[in-house]
Amino acid sequence: MTSVWEAIRRSRSLLLVIVLCSVANVATRGAIAADRSARLQLQVVDAIEFVTDHELSRERLEELAGHMRSVERQMQDELGVPPLEKTVRVYLFATHAAFSDYVRQHIPSVGRTDAAVRHGVFLLRQERPFVFLAAGENLIQSLRHETVHAVLNTSHPALPIWIDEGLAQCYEDPDGGHRSARAERVLKKDLLRRAAPRPQSLEKLKTMSQLGPREYAGCWANLEKLLGSPAGRATLRAYLADLREGKAPAPLSQSSTFLGERSR
Ligand SMILES: [Zn+2]
Repeated sequence: MTSVWEAIRRSRSLLLVIVLCSVANVATRGAIAADRSARLQLQVVDAIEFVTDHELSRERLEELAGHMRSVERQMQDELGVPPLEKTVRVYLFATHAAFSDYVRQHIPSVGRTDAAVRHGVFLLRQERPFVFLAAGENLIQSLRHETVHAVLNTSHPALPIWIDEGLAQCYEDPDGGHRSARAERVLKKDLLRRAAPRPQSLEKLKTMSQLGPREYAGCWANLEKLLGSPAGRATLRAYLADLREGKAPAPLSQSSTFLGERSR
């Protein structure tokens, strides 16, 4: 239980790189400083480090770990993406206020507004994945979402944000399907009755702040489409393999899955 502080203290003096939802690459000094007043506890389940500010049963932690390992397995089966090699640490806060306070205090790139609307944050620090979450009814979905970011960002340099966010949404569903009711709702409610944003426009987006609700939902729609056909899935699989090998694959917008669509 006490090793949390030791591990955190050891990492404090190094220059660290933050990847927030894989998007905002922000170089920063400092680390996740210890906040002893929060009384954080460390429990390790299935080689995943859970740090909590409230009591969670072993069964609940096993359930959460099960979802994370399930996402890893599914991504490996469907996309050939290797599971996490590094130990992931998951911070779980009882309230959104505690989550927001902690994240803002320890990750300077997360602003007040950002922390207010998020329920999860992924951080890559010294190539080690960290996930921060607020407990709530969507905890499982948020955990699965951030797990995708952890899996992808530890082994895929130069991963475009629209693919990262698109896949994270595709693997959120606890049932293992690729649907996202939330994203579908956003696209359906578009007042201008536009089609979902196309890959060609999403590929130009570089930061999380450029992704409005419609673009974010569009990431899901396009990745769900790729995953939904054998040809699309094979294309995505090859694309991710190229990234892992440090190659620069052709943009996914050029794949046959998308080229056949009528531009609008
Ligand atoms: Zn995300």
